[in-house]
Amino acid sequence: MASSYKAPMPTVQKNPIKEVGNLNPPTRLLCGPGPGNAHPRVHAAMSLPQIGHLDPAFMALVEDLKALLRYVWQTDNEFTIPVSGTGSAAWEAAVANLTSPGDVHLTCVNGYFGERHCDMASRYGAKVERLERPWGEAFTLAEITAAMEKTKPQILWLCYAETSTGIRQPMEGIAELCRKHECLLMLDTVTAIGGVPLYLDKWGVDACYAGTQKCLSCPPGVAPLTLGPRALAKMAKRAEKGEKVANWYLDMTMIQKYLVAAAGAPRVYHHTAPISMVYAFREALTLIAEEGLEEVWKRHSDTAEYFWGLMADMGLEMLVKDPNERLTSLHTVKVPEGINAAEAVKHCREKFRIEIGGGLGAALSGKIWRIGLMGFNSRKEIALQVAAALKDALM
Ligand code: PLP
Repeated sequence: MASSYKAPMPTVQKNPIKEVGNLNPPTRLLCGPGPGNAHPRVHAAMSLPQIGHLDPAFMALVEDLKALLRYVWQTDNEFTIPVSGTGSAAWEAAVANLTSPGDVHLTCVNGYFGERHCDMASRYGAKVERLERPWGEAFTLAEITAAMEKTKPQILWLCYAETSTGIRQPMEGIAELCRKHECLLMLDTVTAIGGVPLYLDKWGVDACYAGTQKCLSCPPGVAPLTLGPRALAKMAKRAEKGEKVANWYLDMTMIQKYLVAAAGAPRVYHHTAPISMVYAFREALTLIAEEGLEEVWKRHSDTAEYFWGLMADMGLEMLVKDPNERLTSLHTVKVPEGINAAEAVKHCREKFRIEIGGGLGAALSGKIWRIGLMGFNSRKEIALQVAAALKDALM
């Protein structure tokens, strides 16, 4: 039968298919600050058949994911979930749900991401108090104690793994301090989760978020968030007072009815979960559990030490002088005098298909390279490849 379909008038825009052609991204070894390469099993998980976001089979695999995530973060928090979006979405969820207008956020700024927290918290009506340290240096407990006493915050924000500098923040004594001041501890673990040792419960962390695209060897698109009992109590208190979370999409009082419902309780639709990303995330966490958390941490530490040795052999200096303060996931290498940092990044990409990162922010742009040996890419053979490419770029 002849089709009776008639193209609508007026005519549609010109079809761009001839110009755009087929999807054909280049192959890259991703050793910048993130994303890193996803594990092949994670890619395979993403191609599994879709099921619905309210299907009991989907809810069951989300429960598995939550159990695996608690293990990777070392927490017993019931509220431990995948947030739809990237690390910044889980971060904004923590801020939006735990900030009452006028709350003081003591923000420890020693890199680019501290600046982002100041911006984000201020958008939710927080009074932001900055504690500053030169980029690449950690905060001492004494400095944080003095700032807490002076500013009396409701929230202390710290970045455990500053991706802009490669510094790791010591956590000793901070939980006690926060409890003494009845302040919630919010921690950024984006560049640490699944690579650098984390003990959220032992450290008394009340709210924590991360990303999947670094040590978890998973593409970006879904992000871990956990809230402890003190954080949940604050959320409940805000709700009781009728304070609405100023972000509909990230309102955890609604999302918990979908993702943290009691056993047997109905799951209430909030938004359509990114099904394939949840598969990917579950597979990424499974890979870590299969290898064993301590083994994964050790592999990152061994690869890091090997890489630092290669840099030293090439006469290159690390930005973070003390190896004990360095991240074992993300390495910041100083650019030698007279070298164009951006040209070296381009050389590695164009000649070897290897991505490394440049410095972020005015303080470090052109002054360091940021090299991620994270997750699936935390292996000595990858470290050697990156060092060889960098050496070639410097010749
Ligand atoms: N926090 C840190 C320390 C990061 O390194 C990043 C991203 O690189 C973020 C937060 C934000 O995560 P995303 O880019 O996934 O939104």
